Amino acid sequence: MEGTYYRNLSEPLTSLKGVGPAAAKSYRDLGVVTQSDLLQMRPRAFEDRSRVQTIDAAQDGQFVNTKVLVTGHSYFGGHSFRDRILKIQVQDCEGSGARLQLLCFGRNFLERSIEVGGLYYLYGQITRYKGQVQCSKFELHPAPVEGMPPQFGKVLPIYPLRGSLSQRIIRRDEATVLSSVALFREELPDYLRQKYHLLSTDEAIRQLHQPSSMESEDAARRTLAFGELLYMQLFTRRHEGSTRPEIRRESAPYPLELRLIASLPFSLTPDQMASLKEIRGDLDSSRPMNRLLQGDVGSGKTLVAWVSALHVVSQGKQVAFMAPTELLARQHADNAAKLLSPFGVRLAYLTGAVKGKERTLLLEQIAEGNVDIIIGTHALFGKEVVFKNLGYVIIDEQHRFGVEQRYALTSKAEVPDLLLMTATPIPRTLALTVFGDLNISTLKTMPPGRKPIKTLTVSEASRERMYRAIATEFERGHQAYFVYPRIDDTGESDLRDVTSMYEYLKKEYPGVSSALMHSKLEEEEKMRILEDFKAGNITYLVSTSVVEVGIDIPNATCMVIEHAERFGLAALHQLRGRVGRSSLQSYCFLVFGNDLTDVGKQRLRAMKESNDGFYLAEQDLLIRGPGDIVGRKQSGFLNLQFASLTDDLDLLQQASQAVTQLLKEDPGLLRPEHAVIRQTINESPMFQGSIA
Ligand code: ADP
Ligand code: MG
Repeated sequence: MEGTYYRNLSEPLTSLKGVGPAAAKSYRDLGVVTQSDLLQMRPRAFEDRSRVQTIDAAQDGQFVNTKVLVTGHSYFGGHSFRDRILKIQVQDCEGSGARLQLLCFGRNFLERSIEVGGLYYLYGQITRYKGQVQCSKFELHPAPVEGMPPQFGKVLPIYPLRGSLSQRIIRRDEATVLSSVALFREELPDYLRQKYHLLSTDEAIRQLHQPSSMESEDAARRTLAFGELLYMQLFTRRHEGSTRPEIRRESAPYPLELRLIASLPFSLTPDQMASLKEIRGDLDSSRPMNRLLQGDVGSGKTLVAWVSALHVVSQGKQVAFMAPTELLARQHADNAAKLLSPFGVRLAYLTGAVKGKERTLLLEQIAEGNVDIIIGTHALFGKEVVFKNLGYVIIDEQHRFGVEQRYALTSKAEVPDLLLMTATPIPRTLALTVFGDLNISTLKTMPPGRKPIKTLTVSEASRERMYRAIATEFERGHQAYFVYPRIDDTGESDLRDVTSMYEYLKKEYPGVSSALMHSKLEEEEKMRILEDFKAGNITYLVSTSVVEVGIDIPNATCMVIEHAERFGLAALHQLRGRVGRSSLQSYCFLVFGNDLTDVGKQRLRAMKESNDGFYLAEQDLLIRGPGDIVGRKQSGFLNLQFASLTDDLDLLQQASQAVTQLLKEDPGLLRPEHAVIRQTINESPMFQGSIA
């Protein structure tokens, strides 16, 4: 088979003609670094300029696309020459020759370039106002002697923009990449494409960025989405093809597990014990485990992971524990060292930051089986990481990872047991379709002695009161987080950025030790700060939302979230979950700006109403609407580029049917018609590198 996989173009965008450092930076802000990323950038909308629509037919607010004759210029408004606004009169060359006024707010310069008597192609939004037809959002392009200007006669994609990017630049760069590839390699078997009326992969990628009609754009997106859903299910349901009979034995905990439990200063909650029993049963069954451990923030999932890890270690097998960020991986590694080292469990810590000789040595130890539990980030997937006998994979905050990252890791061993941990509940029906026969354990009860977090909304007027309340907490020896949505002031002057607030708070709390934390710091620096915070050497952290996931500092009792209305509910709940992690009374202050929108108001109200992550997830769906919650980069629990788990239920169903049949009839993907799937999995695994 020939062609290039569209995910395998790893050259940076700067390798394209015309993409300089500024554009590359703007692209990076959109998460687009390589040529492949560019191809996977999904237009957020399309402008249909494929057909001429006359002005006669246009409704109020509709965009038209037609050829016009310029009949005159005039000015209106303003008392002085400088304030007046240009008005261009045009007449439709199509239909009944309707007249239209183009209002050139801030564009008086058009007087010179748009000539009276000239013919132009117009694309603009029509407003009907008191019997007049007007247009203030428009583009005019001179009509060529023959044919149409290049922007017409087609469907134009509209991309999300950042910084120096414009639609013109992105379209140009997409075109450069598309024309540099002769053929994109096929990823779907012919029979499935026919059955579900899908395009070839090559057509799909091209039609997504340069659609010839709205219909072909739709077919293109469906094709790419179907591909994602098919490959996702091939992974999540891979064990269904296993023909090994399921044998369940009565499985008892090993002495090592019991010793760990006995060494804890508290006892396990009933839900923790029940989950452990379920997990043990799976681990000792002959079928690979596929289990989701869900529990609200602070419910104690990590401990369940460690105890169950010892079950596998006791059987002489290795365990991989993966966290979404270096910060979190390090925290888990430190905790594991405290909890498990006393029992002689051999631990290793592996992330991208571990380099050189140290890395080589570590990899050797892992390969030789001298390490029992390896804790790290997605670096655990690296091709060079070879396990001696990996038996169990634990993934913390699983919604943060792309599916294939799980694929890559789990394909390293025979099909190890898999435990996914998440604080973001997944509706059961959805989980079943996506993960096949995934089992679910839930931690409902919180560890005893926890007081519910008190959540308060704070307006600018009551800011001072909040500062005083927090000062009292400091006097009691407690700690706090102050979280802001952005790093430095780059124009939006109303946003309190971390750096300037860090200075401000120093004056508010003289003599109280603090530290600044944001994602641009070196990993080492972040970890040092976090350790100091944990040790109590730092009283409060001023931070961006890097502290959102998983950080566990029980002595912190105050969480201040500035511009709370700018965060999603899931993020707010995660942030709030950083406090209330001990028997101390904790507080969450949601500070809101003056420009509070209705959605913002609803979110803050929901946060005040409830401490329950499951309830909030439901509210989030209601407030945002289902189309918004999953399937978007960094927002959902699966990093899908083209498919949406809520809007594409029909495609999900079709992919699910296809996978069921495939696993039943050809689980090894040995038939010739499935070679295309086998090769795609081997040579261009889906979703790679899509970490948020
Ligand atoms: P999460 O579910 O959010 O990952 P963690 O595993 O980080 O929660 O646990 C939160 C805190 O609760 C940790 O400090 C942990 O040591 C503590 N903890 C876990 N289980 C119990 C328990 N049964 N009793 C008391 N504290 C517990
Ligand atoms: Mg956790």
